[in-house]
Amino acid sequence: MRKRQTKKEKTSQTRLVPIYLLLGSNMGDSAKMLQAACDKIELEIGKITRKSSLYKTAAWGNEDQAPFLNQVIIVPSALSATDCLQAILKIEELLGRKRSVKNAARTIDIDILFYGNAVISLPSLTVPHPELQNRNFVLAPLRELSPNLLHPKYKINMKQLHLRTSDKLAVEKLSSQKQQ
Ligand code: ADP
Ligand code: MG
Repeated sequence: MRKRQTKKEKTSQTRLVPIYLLLGSNMGDSAKMLQAACDKIELEIGKITRKSSLYKTAAWGNEDQAPFLNQVIIVPSALSATDCLQAILKIEELLGRKRSVKNAARTIDIDILFYGNAVISLPSLTVPHPELQNRNFVLAPLRELSPNLLHPKYKINMKQLHLRTSDKLAVEKLSSQKQQ
């Protein structure tokens, strides 16, 4: 039988929330940039427990740009959702992200897809990410990692969400060799 925890033991334990992050890059050496982002995420947010394959996709909303590399990672973290967003903005800046026009080419973009089952609606943060159901480059890696994960608002899983999306943009899953 499991020993009952004292109050002190309970409060000293940190609850880790599984955070799903989407990484994207379409400037410079994108594969290197995603790896650099992962290194910084491990320092600032938490230990990455799972990573999807890399996916190559045409630039969304601006098809004359270089294609993107995208990846979804899972990071259990003790940070609050807003602290996680602050950490992300700091990492993007450290890695040379310049914010110019909407959908401009970027060295690195990091978005919060899910923060556990939380539904968050703040001026600076919407979780689950409001566009994830409309984008194959998010749904394909999410389905690879967690096909049975339920979307906390739509209550359907990642496999179903991917099958039902109206997005027609092709995404190419890169073999592990191409990812080196
Ligand atoms: P996008 O990712 O849409 O191309 P940016 O990366 O420039 O745009 O992000 C702009 C702002 O979006 C961020 O400063 C942040 O406050 C806000 N934002 C809202 N919801 C999220 C989310 N789920 N993940 C990341 N940023 C978010
Ligand atoms: Mg972003």
